[in-house]
Formats: sequence, structure tokens, C-alpha cells
Amino acid sequence: EKSIRIDKYLSNMGIGSRKDIKKHIKMGRVKINEKIVKESNDSVNKNDIVRFDNEVIEYEEFTYIMMNKPQGVISATEDKYQNTVLDILEDRYKNRGLFPAGRLDKDTEGLLILTNNGTLAHNMLSPKKHVTKKYLVKVVGRLGESDVKAFENKIVLEDDYECMPAKLDILESDEESLAIVEIKEGKFHQVKRMFLATDKTVVYLKRISMGPISLDESLKLGEYRKLTAEELNLLE
Ligand code: URA
Repeated sequence: EKSIRIDKYLSNMGIGSRKDIKKHIKMGRVKINEKIVKESNDSVNKNDIVRFDNEVIEYEEFTYIMMNKPQGVISATEDKYQNTVLDILEDRYKNRGLFPAGRLDKDTEGLLILTNNGTLAHNMLSPKKHVTKKYLVKVVGRLGESDVKAFENKIVLEDDYECMPAKLDILESDEESLAIVEIKEGKFHQVKRMFLATDKTVVYLKRISMGPISLDESLKLGEYRKLTAEELNLLE
């Protein structure tokens, strides 16, 4: 069994920096199996029960978060000038090496999965996996059968890239139209560029699912929660 230093364990779980933990240990606030920890480098094994201020702190190797990304933040981990999706998270999630699995534009809303599990992120992102992503989209102008056909028949983007067949489900067609688009790729600005290739401008875009994971409709913009055990099962 792999063991881990108690200060690393607690700082990974967001209790504080290694320096903070050292102080907590000095003050006797940390216990392993009911015994007060004396040293920051004491080791913890898988079956040990760790407590901080008597509250059990369980260890998670990986963290998985579902966020309803609002507009105005970029899906990067840090940026000099702009707010990122990491800035939205509570402090306890900030030192875990979380990053977004699959990007959304600054003005796109909706489902973003943040994790520190690189393998899972790769499986969700790898172009070879062709994970289906669904978007709710609002465009200027009417949508009709010819657009549905165009999306089915491999739209060619302005840089000559030929898209895989995509599905367009029209919900409303009027001066502005609403549709659900399903794509299996994730080129830069792909949905916007696919509509531009059919002479339509996207004015609103929201991701509603990625592979088997759908956005939890109870999450307001900027809210997030951990993936449930059921959702994690769907990913593995
Ligand atoms: N397609 C886009 O154009 N933008 C996104 O954010 C996601 C898909």
C-alpha cells in the first residue's frame, strides 16, 4: 500500500498550505486513528482515519467537478488579465491541479468538467474517441431542412477543414432560431464556424452534454458540484 505524508494529505484535500498544516499539527488539531499527530512527515496509509478538528477528512486521489460555466470567464487554469474557471472555485479546490477537460469559449455557457485525472481528461478529449458533445444554440435567421442536411453532409469550414457529420435538431425557427447541435469533434470555435459556413451567426451557445454526462439543470450559472458516483461510472 502506498503511504503519503500527513501534511501532503491534508493540503491536497484543501485544508491549507503545507505551512498551515504544520501549524495545525503543532496545535494538536490533526489526528490519525484517534492519535494526535506530532510531525508533519508522519505517514498515512489507505485504511487510516484522518481527522482535522475531529472531522474525518477522506482522501480522494482524483477530483471531478461539473460546472455550469458562465459567460465572461475563460476555460484556462490561470491568466494574467482575465478571470478563469478556476477563480470561481472555492479555495479548497484550488491546489489540486484541476484543469478543464475540454474548453469552452469565453462567451459560451454550460457543462464544463474539471478534473486532475489526466487519463480521464485525455479520454474525454482525444479526437480519436469522438465523444459526442451537445450544444444548445441560438442563431440569427431561420433554420430549415437544408441546414439539417448541410450538417449531416460534412460542413466545410472557412479553412477547408471538413467536419464529421453532425446532427442539427431545430427547436424553433424564426428571426432568431434555436437548435440542438451534436458534434463529435472539438475544433477551435467549431460550432460557431459550422454555422458561419452556412451563413448564420451564433448569438448564444451552451454545452448541455459531453459523452454520457449531462449538465445538471439545477446548477445555476457559475455553480458547480462534484460528479456523483453514478456519473463517474459512466465515464469509466
Ligand atoms: N464551439 C464553439 O464555437 N465554441 C465553444 O465554446 C464550443 C464549441
